[in-house]
Amino acid sequence: MAELLFDGDLSLLRDLTIAVIGYGNQGSVQAKILRENGLNVIVGNVRDEYWGKAESDGFKVYEIREAVRRADAALLLVPDEVAPEVYYSEIDEELRRKSFFILDFASGYNIAYGLIKPAPSADVVMVAPRMFAWGILERHRLGLGYPVLLGVAQNASGRAWDYALALAKGIGAIGLPGGAALKSSFEEEAFLDLLSEHTYIPLLIASIMAYFEVATKIYGASPEAAILELYASGELAEQARAMAEEGLIEQLKHHSRTSQYGQLTRIRRYYDVIREIVESEADEIWSGEFAREFAEEKYSGMILMNRLKEIFGSSDLVKVERKLLKAIKEGKLD
Ligand code: NDP
Repeated sequence: MAELLFDGDLSLLRDLTIAVIGYGNQGSVQAKILRENGLNVIVGNVRDEYWGKAESDGFKVYEIREAVRRADAALLLVPDEVAPEVYYSEIDEELRRKSFFILDFASGYNIAYGLIKPAPSADVVMVAPRMFAWGILERHRLGLGYPVLLGVAQNASGRAWDYALALAKGIGAIGLPGGAALKSSFEEEAFLDLLSEHTYIPLLIASIMAYFEVATKIYGASPEAAILELYASGELAEQARAMAEEGLIEQLKHHSRTSQYGQLTRIRRYYDVIREIVESEADEIWSGEFAREFAEEKYSGMILMNRLKEIFGSSDLVKVERKLLKAIKEGKLD
C-alpha cells in the first residue's frame, strides 16, 4: 500500500515567511488557513482585483518578485499554463540568490513535463489537494482535513519531505479528521490528474449529451425532465459523495434493486471499449504527446478550446438547462 501520512510538524514553518503567489481559488483559501495556523503569510500578485481582495482579507500584498524576495517559502498558486512564465520572469532570479528556499506546487504538471526547472538550491515540493478550493474551505469550517498528494522534486535541504508534510498541515489538509497525505511524485500526480480529465470526466459529459439527444429527440421525453434526471437534481453529486465515503460498489445499496441490476449488468457492456480508450489516452499523456498538444494550443491563443466552449455552450441541452436552473433558483418561470 502507498505510504499514507496523517500529521506534520508545523514548528518547521514557524520562523519562515511564506509567500502565497496568486490569490485565486487555491491561493486565497490556502493563505487564510496558513494564517489561521499561526504562520507568517504574505501574498504576491499582479496589481488588480485579486490584489485588492487579498488586502481586504488583511494580507500584506507585494508584486510577485518582491514577495519572493521577502520570503523563505513560496506556494506557486497561479494557473498551470501561466506558471512557467511567472516563474521565469519573477521568481527564478530571486531564488538563485538564496541558499535556502521551499518552492511548493499544488499540481505536478510543470515540473513533470520540464516546463519549470527550479534553481538547484531550492527544495521543490508538491502538496496537491484532491479537492476544489470551495470544498477545502467547507471542510475546514467543519474542522475536517482533506486528501493531498505529496511530492518532492528537489531535496536541497535534506528535509523536503518534512517541509511538504508541514505545509500539508499548514493548509489544513492533515492533522484533522478526514485528512491524509499520500506520498506520491510530481509525475504520478500529473499523470493521474490528466488521465481522469481525459477519460471518465469527458465520458460522463458525452454520455449525458448522448442520453439527452436520444431521450428528447428520438423518444420525445421532456428536455427539462431529462436534465433533472441527469444531473440538475443533485442526485449525481450525492452518488459521488457516497462513492467517496462508502466505496464504488458498496454505495449501490442506496439504489433500488432494479437500478442495481441495471447498473451492474451494463458495466460489462461498456468495459472493454472504455478500457481501450483509457489505455490510448494514458499513452498520449505518458509520452508527453498531450503536453505538446496543449503547448501548441496555448501558443495559438486557445483557439480550439474557446471554439469548443462556444459550440457546446450553445447546444440545445445548455439552452434548456439555463432556463431550468434559473426557474428552480427563482421559484418561477419567465
Ligand atoms: P486560479 O485560476 O484561481 O489562479 C488565479 C491566480 O493566478 C490569481 O491570483 C491570478 O492573478 C494569478 N494569475 C493568473 N494569470 C497570471 C499571470 N499571467 N501572471 C501572474 N499571475 C497570474 O488558479 P487555481 O487556484 O485554480 O490553481 C492554482 C494551482 O492549484 C494550479 O497549480 C492548479 O492546478 C492547482 N489546483 C487547483 C485546484 C482548484 O480548486 N482550482 C485543485 C487542486 C489543485 P490575477 O487574476 O490577479 O492576474
